[in-house]
Amino acid sequence: MSLEQKQKILAALAGGADRVFALQSRLTALRGLGPANGGSGEQDKADFLESWLRSFGIDDIEHVDAPDSRVPSGKRPNLIVRVPGRSARTLWILGHMDVVPAGEESLWRTDPWTVTRDADDPDLIYGRGVEDNQQAIVCGCMVAAALKENGVTPDLSLGLIFVSDEETGNAYGIQYLLKEKPDFVKEGDLVMVPDSGSPDGTFIEVAEKGILWLRVTVDGVQCHASKPDDGKNALVASAAIILGAAEIEQRFDARDSIFSPDRSTFTPTKHEANVPNVNTIPGREVFYIDCRVLPCYTLDEVLAAFRDLGARVSETYGVNVDVQIQMCEPAAAPTPEDSAVVQSLKKAVKEVLGVDCWCGGVGGSTVAVSFRERGIHAAVWAHIFENCHTPNEAARLSFAVGDAQVYASMLFLD
Ligand SMILES: [Zn+2]
Repeated sequence: MSLEQKQKILAALAGGADRVFALQSRLTALRGLGPANGGSGEQDKADFLESWLRSFGIDDIEHVDAPDSRVPSGKRPNLIVRVPGRSARTLWILGHMDVVPAGEESLWRTDPWTVTRDADDPDLIYGRGVEDNQQAIVCGCMVAAALKENGVTPDLSLGLIFVSDEETGNAYGIQYLLKEKPDFVKEGDLVMVPDSGSPDGTFIEVAEKGILWLRVTVDGVQCHASKPDDGKNALVASAAIILGAAEIEQRFDARDSIFSPDRSTFTPTKHEANVPNVNTIPGREVFYIDCRVLPCYTLDEVLAAFRDLGARVSETYGVNVDVQIQMCEPAAAPTPEDSAVVQSLKKAVKEVLGVDCWCGGVGGSTVAVSFRERGIHAAVWAHIFENCHTPNEAARLSFAVGDAQVYASMLFLD
């Protein structure tokens, strides 16, 4: 009985490419840029998704909207959608509604805000958000609609979580939602975060490194470049810190083969403008270091190492060095490979895509960490190119159809 129902849903989803295209087109047109990215928020997207789901008779839609006076609606929408199964045990699929800006529009071959099919390959679509993270939202909607249209009640309940503010810090999104509704995910539920993956669909992300962003300010003494002895060159002192980052990386030398790369990384990145002219010795430099730290180290240890380096450089070069935290997100315990969500996902991917999955960790960060730090096992997986945030962001309609079938398969316990 259950098997028959599952086959019915998988067959219905198989013909869903046009529906994927239609949903992607609407979502991209509605943008969903957060205010920190110069946008008006995710409300239009949330309204569209809610009315689309209600048109299929899906009415259990809970709002956990975060107040935000920076956007016209005054709130950042977060939705919890439930489609009941035979059991209250729920498969959750989380997607974020916000996207990043198009970036340099001249680098796009098509209008970033109009989903466009490739001229030679109609399965391939372009548009901002089609991969990150609309595919997750679209696939969740596809499964929910297919259950209703076919009158199928799966073994597990289906839960869709649509959040705001993933691209600019999560405070109005998953963090707000979990603060307001700390217990909405129950023990035994399966949590999927389809916000990272691989082009062959085999990679399951189960672990993330800790992230520490440091803002380093070096204050020296500005002077004319022809009389360097009169000043303290902040740029030269900064160079010593930048080179010192490599030494710190050698000190924090643990390896963990689950991650790629398998070590902690300490990477100088952004540098703020200093003097506008060539013949002035800069008296102040501000730059940033992006640290991705294996879970065996604390971020406090890393911060202490950089402050120690700063103290040594300030003594050697006669400057003042200040190391501040720009962002700090400690690593959470990985999702075990033998957890129910990973096992169920592996089985479903094998059934639908015919491939074997492998588990690994990344240096990036997804909202899965918000679940993992609460002891909830979350798996990050999607069949995607991994081209998020790029110009000409692309996705395949067939990838989305397959992902929807994978989630549908996970709803049945045979
Ligand atoms: Zn994303």
